[in-house]
Amino acid sequence: MEEPKHEPAPGGEPEPLDFVRAMVAQDNCTGKFDGRVVTRFPPEPNGYLHIGHAKAICIDFGIAAEFGGRCHLRYDDTNPAKEDVEYVDAIEADVRWLGWDWGTHLYHASDYFEQMYQWAEQLVNAGKAYVCDLNADQMRDYRGTLTAPGKDSPYRNRSIAENLDLLRRMRAGEFDEGSRTLRAKIDMASPNLNMRDPVMYRILKQSHHRTGDKWCIYPSYDWAHGLEDSIETVTHSICTLEFENHRPLYDWFIEQLGIYHPQQIEFARLNLTYTVMSKRKLLRLVQEKLVNGWDDPRMPTLCGMRRRGYSSESIRTFCKRIGVNKTNSTVDFAMLEHCVREDLNKTSPRVMAVLDPIKVVITNYPEGQVEELQAVNNPEDASAGSRAVPFARELYIEREDFMEDPPKKFFRLSPGREVRLRYAYFIKCEKAVKDDAGHIVELHCTYDPATRGGDAPDGRKVKSTLHWVCASKALDARVNLYDTLFTVPNPDDAPEGKDFTMHLSGDSLKVVSGCKVEPSLAGAKPGDRFQFERLGYFCLDLDSTPGRPVFNRTATLKDTWARIQQKEQ
Ligand code: ATP
Ligand code: MG
Repeated sequence: MEEPKHEPAPGGEPEPLDFVRAMVAQDNCTGKFDGRVVTRFPPEPNGYLHIGHAKAICIDFGIAAEFGGRCHLRYDDTNPAKEDVEYVDAIEADVRWLGWDWGTHLYHASDYFEQMYQWAEQLVNAGKAYVCDLNADQMRDYRGTLTAPGKDSPYRNRSIAENLDLLRRMRAGEFDEGSRTLRAKIDMASPNLNMRDPVMYRILKQSHHRTGDKWCIYPSYDWAHGLEDSIETVTHSICTLEFENHRPLYDWFIEQLGIYHPQQIEFARLNLTYTVMSKRKLLRLVQEKLVNGWDDPRMPTLCGMRRRGYSSESIRTFCKRIGVNKTNSTVDFAMLEHCVREDLNKTSPRVMAVLDPIKVVITNYPEGQVEELQAVNNPEDASAGSRAVPFARELYIEREDFMEDPPKKFFRLSPGREVRLRYAYFIKCEKAVKDDAGHIVELHCTYDPATRGGDAPDGRKVKSTLHWVCASKALDARVNLYDTLFTVPNPDDAPEGKDFTMHLSGDSLKVVSGCKVEPSLAGAKPGDRFQFERLGYFCLDLDSTPGRPVFNRTATLKDTWARIQQKEQ
């Protein structure tokens, strides 16, 4: 059979379809859903969205857009114990930031609680659900194992009338938390553990952020999810692989009720090296103050990545490149960074900043004179133009760009050596001035006025070009240098009695103050991204105040992904 193709992007070649898109295309061909495509992204508002969610979002919203359908944003708010409105607001902001729009299709599972309950009574009336008095421990004992069948609950054969009465009294709040559940009556010997009389309702005497105290029984994920999809006439309910074994149950509930039947499809979740992705673990990092909040730039959350300076375009590119697959794997963090760099290289203006400044005095430059030199804003983008950078007698360069006693391969500044200052002049170091303790405090250099702009008319060459800023005009800045939060590729791998926190890196954040940045950055706004020449990509942090800029390092300039790929070939 010929590979089905999907609509080519405008002007682009048709791409082969991944297996989810192929299924959707197939269903459109056979008319299974009358050509409709309705997907949903169903976060539980119990944490902030992370890069794994971005994969799901791009699949759900992407497929809907490509097939002319729609994607719902639905809060799967069935467990009030862990949910919070703080998360609800953040989720919407993050999905929008990624570039997707649900239009008017914003839904809440909690809005369907009454309908779900009515359906539960329907199953009780059909003899397909019963109230069970086993507690959680007992239920586990009765459940059996992968190799041993379970045992029927002693409450399994209650009459329909008794079940209905007990369910209504559960709803009315007559029983204690944990004392009773409503269970589906399926098969305690099923090889699929999910089919062994799964719990549909549990008693939970907790207020819900939307329904308040109206309910004291809350539906389980397995009971609720398919019903939510059915109510919204979702066509393709796309979820992660761990729900594959739940699909028979998803289908069973819908078939027993005889209601509209969406198709569940599972794909492999995203794992990234040097990263933990479970919301429970991310919450721990926040609660135990192992990071500075959900939007700490070291977090794999979308708000953290945004604050770090990752653009939404690069995250979408990343999600596209990793594709949609059916087997679990771990993607190299370097690949995400590669997508981030690729985008920043095209879009970010170049500026000069000195993180560890040492003063340079150009002894033959007129005192009090300041001249303006033209610097290219982005060599990758001619339309970005150029800007003026001030040059004067006193400058700063990077301390590590000077060595008094250089080894053979050091081509930067050293006594007697000539180098280029980017967009400016050739300078030659005449002397390193030291304090009483012998520390170098400034460098005395001379410049060659004939080399203005950075080239010598006599054709003489220099072996290196340094970035610099004008001492009197530079702004003071603080810079946060980030590295991976964990020291090992798989932080979830921890010996008995230990956990992922044992792999936290002590070097994931270095705060550098006393940095000097060029004056054009005075106009930068939080979120603006730049390439600091020779240093990396940086983004102005939210905590910046006018006159007190704080920059986050988004990424270094070194792309390790290309190297990793070469090695693999
Ligand atoms: P966690 O287990 O960390 O709490 P979750 O899957 O329960 O995560 P939800 O808020 O329920 O989090 O997820 C919403 C949607 O995002 C689901 O469809 C889920 O399958 C998907 N999703 C969550 N994590 C990932 C991931 N790492 N990769 C791809 N999709 C994911
Ligand atoms: Mg979940």
